Amino acid sequence: MRKISRMGTDRVGEEASREKRTAGELDARADALRGLRDEQVPCLVAGAYAFFEYTGIFRDTKDLDLFVRAGDLEGAFRVLEPAGFRVARARTPLKLLAVRTGLAQYGRNNITYVRGMGSFADLNAFCTDAPLQAEDYRTKGSWRLSCCPPCRNCHHVCPTGCIPYDGKVIDAERCLTYLNEHEEAFPQWLDAGSHNALVGCMRCQEMCPANRVYLRIPKVVAEFDHEETAWVLRGLPADQLPEGVREKLRRLDMEGYSTVIGRNLQALAAAEKNRSSTQPDPRDPSGL
Ligand code: SF4
Ligand code: SF4
Repeated sequence: MRKISRMGTDRVGEEASREKRTAGELDARADALRGLRDEQVPCLVAGAYAFFEYTGIFRDTKDLDLFVRAGDLEGAFRVLEPAGFRVARARTPLKLLAVRTGLAQYGRNNITYVRGMGSFADLNAFCTDAPLQAEDYRTKGSWRLSCCPPCRNCHHVCPTGCIPYDGKVIDAERCLTYLNEHEEAFPQWLDAGSHNALVGCMRCQEMCPANRVYLRIPKVVAEFDHEETAWVLRGLPADQLPEGVREKLRRLDMEGYSTVIGRNLQALAAAEKNRSSTQPDPRDPSGL
């Protein structure tokens, strides 16, 4: 990595990037940003450009990383296509792709970890005909987190026992996330006390040392009143919910789960009630 002082000119990063990038490639990035700005599609520039702005350290990059909220994604596509870039979501094995391209590493829990984000990264892949320069796609470094071999935290805390002690592949059909994201009834073997999240399961991620610093990231919160909760419990498709409820689910990135969160909420409430009733009452000396 080459460090470039910001002293003298704010354009120093731009000048440095021209050493390796073609004019067409840089123009494509600028056109995409102008199009999004002109159509008022909210986005954040991330990756090497943001790194340079905040630290003054320049790192050459073959891509322009933009963060766009899920609800603004279709709007971003609509802007980029007339600007000459066709973009389409790629349906592909995302974790495998991320690991094979060096973006992520597998944990023992088979979740992928991205540097700087831990396991809290939402992987997406897109195809585009924008004139980007191909990158060397060979895997860089190990596929597996270096902290995994001596650690078994996730194996010990998994509520369904689906992470093997020594094997490499989890029993995915026993993973709580798999079970509560699907509409089928929960299987008989599932312990009712296992539920710990409205959608998904956080146990193996919360106890993972590779996530320690990222657990402090502020959480997105939305409060539902009685009437809104009643709507959620009905398990309707999102387009049949009142806009206010839908907006809150969208904020939580759960709009796509509207048909299962009613069932999951009831299972979670029952598990919490059971947990609190089995906790010793701190005011009761006989429980000490
Ligand atoms: S908890 Fe330990 S073994 Fe499991 S993924 Fe994290 S580092 Fe690896
Ligand atoms: S998400 Fe939960 S159920 Fe799935 S592997 Fe992790 S701890 Fe186990």
